[in-house]
Amino acid sequence: MLCELCGKDSTFCKKVTIEGVQLEVCAECAKFGIEAKKAAPKEVGPKPVIAQRLEVREKRARPKDVLEATEREELVEDYGARIRDARAQRGVTQKDLAMKINERLTVLSKIETGDMRPDDKIVAKLEKELGIKLKEKVTETQVTRTVGTSSMTLADLIRMQKD
Ligand SMILES: [Zn+2]
Repeated sequence: MLCELCGKDSTFCKKVTIEGVQLEVCAECAKFGIEAKKAAPKEVGPKPVIAQRLEVREKRARPKDVLEATEREELVEDYGARIRDARAQRGVTQKDLAMKINERLTVLSKIETGDMRPDDKIVAKLEKELGIKLKEKVTETQVTRTVGTSSMTLADLIRMQKD
C-alpha cells in the first residue's frame, strides 16, 4: 500500500500520529511520528523533514492528485450587455459594428442577447473596437503547495485527499 506521507509504495505500513494527524506510513516515515512534535519551532534554515517528505510525495503523486493554482481569463457572464451598452454609448448600430469586426449581423445579434458565446477571435475584435474588457481573470483551485513555506500543513494535505 501507499505511504500516506511520502507516497512510496510500501509493503509494510504503520499507523502513527504525525502533527496530530493519524497516518499509515512506511517504516521510514514512521520515524517522524515522534520527531515532528519536537521539531515544532519556526521553519528556519534547512527544510523540515516533513516538508521534505511532502515534496517527495508531490513528485510521486499521480496527475489527478496534483492541485495547482491556475489563473486564466474567462469570458464575463454579462458579455452581451457589455457589448450592447458600449455599442449604444458610441451610437453604433448592430449592423455597423458587425461590419467593423467583419462578422455576420446574426452572429453579433446572438452574442448581444447571450445566445452565443463569442470565440476568442471575436472577443478580441469586440474589445478593441469598443474599448471594453470582456474577459476577467479567474483563479481556480487556490491551493498553495509551495514546500518550505508554512502555507500548507500535513493536515491540509490529508484534507485535500479526502475531498
Ligand atoms: Zn513514507
